[in-house]
Amino acid sequence: MKDIIQLGELKIEVTRKDIKNVHLSVHPPDGRVSLSAPLNTRLEVARAYAISKLSWIRLQQEKLAKQPREKPREFVKRESHYVWGRRYLLNVVHTDGKQQVTLDHKKINLFVKLGSNKSKREEVFYEWQKKQLHEYVLETVAKWEPILGIKANAYFLQRMKTKWGSCNHKSRNIRLNTELVKKPKDLIEYVIVHELAHLIVPVHNEKFIAILDKFYPNWREARMELNELPLGHVDWK
Ligand SMILES: [Zn+2]
Repeated sequence: MKDIIQLGELKIEVTRKDIKNVHLSVHPPDGRVSLSAPLNTRLEVARAYAISKLSWIRLQQEKLAKQPREKPREFVKRESHYVWGRRYLLNVVHTDGKQQVTLDHKKINLFVKLGSNKSKREEVFYEWQKKQLHEYVLETVAKWEPILGIKANAYFLQRMKTKWGSCNHKSRNIRLNTELVKKPKDLIEYVIVHELAHLIVPVHNEKFIAILDKFYPNWREARMELNELPLGHVDWK
């Protein structure tokens, strides 16, 4: 059951969960606000709580707005792109053969047909990124499922606007943001472990945190780093 608290311009999504305390979150990249409350919390109480935290919410949103963001990419020569947390320079090569991407020491080589426009170059690049991420996710899921003693039904890689990953506890499906391919592998691993752990405990309660503490002890650092890294340019149409 979800409710919305509207405070002027500010919209707060309320979710009631099996938790003890009210919890407020401001999410990157756009500063969306959500509030989790114990199951029997009345909306007026949640609303009063949100009002009491209004200046804190504004402060978090300002911080997010100031975070460095990536510029939109044109997919032209010498442009920098990130893969696994490392910066590479793009090299655009015209080809009559297969449109593809190869990675060498310092460069990402993007092979495209002569006259390919920006969206075609981006598409070839994006498909390659997705394939890279897919391979890493496969091996990492295979590594962690037996450790955690669970099994996901399926996982999906997709462009996501506000989250690095999500888990549907009922269908046991995991979704991961394709932007993750730009991040260091240990941070991606944290996101995978986090979402897999939701198959055991769907919410962020003490039990969930205990699982992370046990299996991925430096999850706090990973989460912090992930939220501090420059966010991808978002152009969702
Ligand atoms: Zn979570």
